[in-house]
Amino acid sequence: MQQFTKIQEMKDYLRPMQSAGQKIGLVPTMGYLHEGHLSLIRRAVQESDIAVVSIFVNPIQFGPSEDLAKYPHNLAKDLELIDKTGAAVVFTPDAVEMYGDNHLTFVHVEKITDILCGPFRPGHFQGVATVVNKLFNIVRPDKAYFGQKDGQQAMVIQKMVRDLNMDVTIITCPTVREADGLAMSSRNTYLNVAERSQAPVLYQVLTAAKDMIQGSITDGVLIKKQIKTMISSKPLANIEYISLVDASSFREISQVSGPVMIALAVKFGATRLIDNIIVEG
Ligand code: AMP
Repeated sequence: MQQFTKIQEMKDYLRPMQSAGQKIGLVPTMGYLHEGHLSLIRRAVQESDIAVVSIFVNPIQFGPSEDLAKYPHNLAKDLELIDKTGAAVVFTPDAVEMYGDNHLTFVHVEKITDILCGPFRPGHFQGVATVVNKLFNIVRPDKAYFGQKDGQQAMVIQKMVRDLNMDVTIITCPTVREADGLAMSSRNTYLNVAERSQAPVLYQVLTAAKDMIQGSITDGVLIKKQIKTMISSKPLANIEYISLVDASSFREISQVSGPVMIALAVKFGATRLIDNIIVEG
């Protein structure tokens, strides 16, 4: 496995192989890898000649009061885990390499960044779209892999790729969960024992909402009310939002009449957790 920290070296390594027709799969991550990340990496290994994993904690997608400074990291362990998947290349630039000291260009996807996590994390999706665009330009992948766990992020990237005519196929992979249903996340490590024991309520409410829809309840207000009541029974949970959005247009809906994404963000102490599921309405 090769590791690169410099953009030019990464390009110089990949371009001859691309000219020779080799297909590249890219998995962008912020490191501190778990089974969710590894499922994406394994799929990239399976589907490409060269799987590239990037590890970069992207400063411009964090707000001033967010967890950039304390974001968990363990590069040595990450490299060990990636090596076992058979991925060929790891790209680990630092912030100076990626942005220098005079970065003035950003990618902004409108409207679908104004809902769900958008209002709670101003600038977040612009930071994500910008770094992913940069990674695409550096790596030039044929396919790039993202998790359904971050459903809005996957939609934003998909929209950017379509709107800007980028030659990359976006693959969205299923959310990997702990045995009790909690979606795996690097941030789960912040939870204390009491918070961790209450956090599985997120998946429980999503499953309950799915059951309601499959039992022909289509009233979005009623579904959200039910979710709210269930989450509120956990004293450590603070709801940020509960939303139902049309799974293809990504518009907020009040009536379920087709595939719907039920998405939520809930804080446990200072830790913000997100989760979602798609239900065929
Ligand atoms: P992150 O390191 O949190 O930026 O995540 C890197 C990629 O892994 C993103 O595309 C995430 O959506 C994806 N990912 C994170 N957690 C999971 C999970 N539990 N299941 C599937 N994919 C995930």
